Amino acid sequence: MLGGEFLQRDESANAIFTPEGLSSEARLMGRTAEEFLKKAVLPHVERIEAHDIELMAELMHQAGDLGLLGAEVPVAYGGFGIDNCTGALIAEKLNWQQSFALSHEAHTVIATLPLQYFGSHALKAKYLPKLASGEWIGSFGLSEAGSGSDALGAQTRAELSPDGQHWVLNGGKMWITNTAFAQLFTVFAKVDGEKFSCFMVEAGTPGLSYGKEEHKLGMKGTSTRRLILENVQIPVENLVGEVGKGHYAAFCALNMGRFKLEAGAVGGIKETLAVCATYANQRKQFNRTLGSFGMIQAKLGSICARLFALESAVYRLAGALDSVFEGIDPTADDAPQRYHHAAEEYAIECSIVKVVGSELYSWATDEAIQIHGGYGYTEEFPVARAWRDQRLLRIGEGANEIVRPIIVNTLLRRAKQGRLDLSAQLSTCGLKRAGLQLLQLLVETFGAALAEEQEALGAVSDIISAAYCYESAALRTEKLKGTPQENARLCTALYLHESQTAALALASLVLTRCHADPATTASVLAELQPDSTTDTIALRRLLAGTVLNGERYPFG
Ligand SMILES: Cc1cc2nc3c(=O)[nH]c(=O)nc-3n(C[C@H](O)[C@H](O)[C@H](O)COP(=O)(O)OP(=O)(O)OC[C@H]3O[C@@H](n4cnc5c(N)ncnc54)[C@H](O)[C@@H]3O)c2cc1C
Repeated sequence: MLGGEFLQRDESANAIFTPEGLSSEARLMGRTAEEFLKKAVLPHVERIEAHDIELMAELMHQAGDLGLLGAEVPVAYGGFGIDNCTGALIAEKLNWQQSFALSHEAHTVIATLPLQYFGSHALKAKYLPKLASGEWIGSFGLSEAGSGSDALGAQTRAELSPDGQHWVLNGGKMWITNTAFAQLFTVFAKVDGEKFSCFMVEAGTPGLSYGKEEHKLGMKGTSTRRLILENVQIPVENLVGEVGKGHYAAFCALNMGRFKLEAGAVGGIKETLAVCATYANQRKQFNRTLGSFGMIQAKLGSICARLFALESAVYRLAGALDSVFEGIDPTADDAPQRYHHAAEEYAIECSIVKVVGSELYSWATDEAIQIHGGYGYTEEFPVARAWRDQRLLRIGEGANEIVRPIIVNTLLRRAKQGRLDLSAQLSTCGLKRAGLQLLQLLVETFGAALAEEQEALGAVSDIISAAYCYESAALRTEKLKGTPQENARLCTALYLHESQTAALALASLVLTRCHADPATTASVLAELQPDSTTDTIALRRLLAGTVLNGERYPFG
């Protein structure tokens, strides 16, 4: 199925990738990442949290030595050329020290991919092997003091030198991860103040300097600084792709970044759940363990169910991405077009996992602090750090207020282009059918003024996102039938019920806003009715019981 098509029709279980399908090679890479995190990173949490940037640089180089920085770089440029499914597993396994995970993601995804996708062969040959080995660390400079969400509003300029041999860059970048120890910056600037373009800038180039480290809420171990560019001269061949096409590089990298950050979130939420289960088994109040109380079980059960849905969606997306990236020759002349097409195809699904994953991570770590009570509010347990760190995910790589509209706007744009037929109601899934009906209602009601209806668009985007995650969970459950993990069906049943309940409120908001007639209102709400015989309290208790017994997430 191509990007966005899931909304029109139902997918079959055999057509989707699930984490159970990870190859032995992928699992081996996952274990390497897991071992590295356990042995090299986690023992140094205190130093990382104390902002020991030299240590972070050292850890990044060590990760490079193990192949964890170049895993996804094509073999032709010094990497291992692994697929997105394996990449997702690595991100998952590295997440429990989120400062390290962010430094890793900034290097491997947003700093490396613009060059890998759009750079000339010569430029790739010059820099990719160094990035792949970890000899050089990369950094991505898009945001500016005056332009974050509105990234294309950047003020940094690039001018061609009179002899045509150099680009001369002037301006400033803000919030740039890895700055202190990066040797290579992927920088976006406007040629002649107009044409948004992408450049590779080496550290040490005269005129390039850095601001002080930012004092942040979380991600204390990452280096986050301003870049100051004053007449920075770089070779003319350090332009990535074409003048005026820098937005392709930025948005493709951000799409993949959204997918990768949330693959990481899957790992972080798994650890959060495990830590909570252990604590809830040990801590006693009123002569009973916390885990024996219904309200604590409700939290554990819901986190588990939503995590199952998120994990299913992330790996389904990873498999879909692999299908479009497969067969691209990174050295061929048409590589940039093919990479562009591949990284753009699943923009809707990348955006869905970004919003769902970051918000689940926020909610799960918040509840984790609650389960730990006062101890959760201290540094004695890792949940306070996890809560602080994950907060960035709702802001970075497209704040969720920017990403939600991308979901619906991309659907509408593709419908206009004839890539999707949103008028066809071919799905049997109520969440999908309601999402489509509401989207059409919004278009009919507001027409050209639709962009100003952000609240309603956000509501529809959430229903569509829930539909994707629910279907991913349901199809995976189908595949797990007859296996020891078949009680994943409890997660799917609970996730459906919770999603429908939330969707009813969201749909009501949209229907009221559109002054929908009674027949339309009844038809949409009927699609979202949860099964009144489903005892969700019992489902949460059952799931919590499994989590508490194993003191871990039971499905992966
Ligand atoms: C720790 C950290 C690391 C980072 N690393 C990097 C990096 O390596 N490279 C890089 O280039 N950038 C990086 N960033 C920057 C990050 O991508 C931006 O912070 C983010 O894109 C948001 O931009 P902003 O901070 O300017 O917020 P703004 O764009 O000012 O947004 C503020 C709020 O307004 C909302 N908003 C804005 N526009 C709209 C709209 N049209 N509709 C509705 N709501 C809207 C936003 O969603 C947000 O909630 C990092 C940031 C942090 C904090």
